[in-house]
Amino acid sequence: MKDTNCIFCKIAAGDIPSNTIYEDEEFRVILDLAPASKGHALILPKEHCADIYEIDAEVAGRAMKLAKKLAMHMTDVLGCEGFNILQNNHEVAGQTVFHFHMHLIPRYKNAKNNDILMWTHETFSEEEMAEIRDSLQYRQ
Ligand code: AMP
Ligand code: ZN
Repeated sequence: MKDTNCIFCKIAAGDIPSNTIYEDEEFRVILDLAPASKGHALILPKEHCADIYEIDAEVAGRAMKLAKKLAMHMTDVLGCEGFNILQNNHEVAGQTVFHFHMHLIPRYKNAKNNDILMWTHETFSEEEMAEIRDSLQYRQ
């Protein structure tokens, strides 16, 4: 299902032109319009879903599998020295387009913005860490 107000739905469907590097029935992969580095690309599912909370787990799994294959391919072609796979959810986490997407960001030694994705550290006491650990126990 497409969301008629969603720019990534339109791009994924091919209704708006993009620099596409891969396409299949389920995904389109495009170059980011404002790239963090040479080759920065985005995996877009064609079916609209806003974020990790909405996406079907199987689709998310296939997106990650595609990310793995593209990381290999892009590293091979671009000769980058590293690679970030990034996925933002909700405004507080930096999401600006509310259609699920995965960033594929090739990284190069000595590139001008190698400090992107760096963060300062928060500190928690041992007790707080234990409380966090206990509250997060998960079983499938
Ligand atoms: P996020 O902040 O995780 O939601 O990422 C949105 C990304 O989409 C940003 O890196 C933008 O540069 C990129 N972007 C926004 N509009 C377009 C567009 N029309 N074509 C390609 N990339 C876009
Ligand atoms: Zn959409």
